[in-house]
Amino acid sequence: MRPEELKAGGKAAPAEKLKADGLGTPAEKLKAQSLGAAGQSSPEGRGNAKPAAAASGDNAAPGTGAPRTLLPGATIGVLGGGQLGRMMALAGSAMGYRFVALDPAPDAPCGQVTPQITAAYDDRDAARELARRADVITYEFENVDADVAALLTAESYVPQGSALLYTTQHRLREKAAIEAAGVPVAPYRKAGSLAELTAAAAELGLPCVLKTATGGYDGKGQAVIRQPEELEAAFRQVAPGVSAGGAPPELVLEKFVAFKCEISVVAARSASGEVKSFPAAENIHVNNILHLSIVPARVPEEIQRRACELAERIVSGMNAVGLLAVEMFVTDSGELFVNELAPRPHNSGHYTMDACVTSQFEQHVRAICNLPLGDTTLLTPVVMVNVLGQHLDGAIQAVCTPDEAGNRLGVAPKLHIYGKSESKTGRKMGHINLLCKDTGDGLSWVEQTNLWRN
Ligand code: AMP
Repeated sequence: MRPEELKAGGKAAPAEKLKADGLGTPAEKLKAQSLGAAGQSSPEGRGNAKPAAAASGDNAAPGTGAPRTLLPGATIGVLGGGQLGRMMALAGSAMGYRFVALDPAPDAPCGQVTPQITAAYDDRDAARELARRADVITYEFENVDADVAALLTAESYVPQGSALLYTTQHRLREKAAIEAAGVPVAPYRKAGSLAELTAAAAELGLPCVLKTATGGYDGKGQAVIRQPEELEAAFRQVAPGVSAGGAPPELVLEKFVAFKCEISVVAARSASGEVKSFPAAENIHVNNILHLSIVPARVPEEIQRRACELAERIVSGMNAVGLLAVEMFVTDSGELFVNELAPRPHNSGHYTMDACVTSQFEQHVRAICNLPLGDTTLLTPVVMVNVLGQHLDGAIQAVCTPDEAGNRLGVAPKLHIYGKSESKTGRKMGHINLLCKDTGDGLSWVEQTNLWRN
């Protein structure tokens, strides 16, 4: 799509483009053929699409109809204009794709590098506009409004579908889906009332972690319960509305896993079913926010391999399209339990931007556009350190002035700053990928810069 079409807000159908351009570009010709092959070459064709699973609860295969191959030149619409959308757009633009993002914040990180529709995420007219301006729609966060997901699936091409969103928006559904793929999760029970919680705790045995089924992230909406006396306080903390007569909460009680470390694997599945995973990252959190990703993870290679297999099994079992980040606990005895899924690029996959042949963002674009997936080989050991608001000035200073620690240690820091207008303590403002010969050197660099003490 050309800029003037974007300004006009209209998207020409492929057939119209071919007519207007004479023969059209090779990308447009191929796109037109592939749309034609899917029998969905017109907006009317798309109107017959299956309603979104997020709205209906239907666990149908993702997307609508046959996979479409979208070549460079096509426009990718991104629901959400944060840093994940921005890095996706930067990677996809390098391949020749165009982007348009929808975000409520003017000057959002993604909007600084792509055209942006500024509107609320649940604004149906804005979603419709996004659908009109894009050839394919993706999202960069998982709590997509169900109505908007349904509308976009009906009016545009959403290869990721909405079944995966429906599953990952709810911890109980997510755990059931992981188990259905034959992958272990920590033992858990539904705990919708204090009585149910008490019974669940007796069955599982303490310690346990109580979590909201929806909406929690970065440790929010959670409480660790070590003694039976703590049950009631935990219930009131995690479900505060209930004592004021609110609706019964949807909670899940999980057995506390005494893990040795946390790892994650980002896996991708393309619209036509090709699956690949990136090497496992070892993740260290501070105050429940990701601080470091260390790759290769400091666990035996056999565990790294098994983690990749489990992630690939989940992404295949769920018929996902695009990226799926799989967070896992590793126990002392080498068992793996999946904790959480995210159906999008993930903070723990940012290391791939500088350390792998293909970045997670390019891989996501390849997957949704139905290109062959890229090589996920790790080119160098790497430590990714997050730059939060309180680290921003110091991190810029450390990377943008002669780097004695880096020279001494043989560490090359690669800076990524997201362009957020307001810097706040605990807010993710950027990250640094520390390319090194050994991850111990990258960790020493973090130590020696003395920035990440709070
Ligand atoms: P979550 O929001 O589920 O990702 O949890 C946030 C963090 O809490 C995880 O990264 C773990 O460090 C910790 N955590 C969550 N669930 C458990 C569990 N069942 N056992 C032990 N630690 C947990």
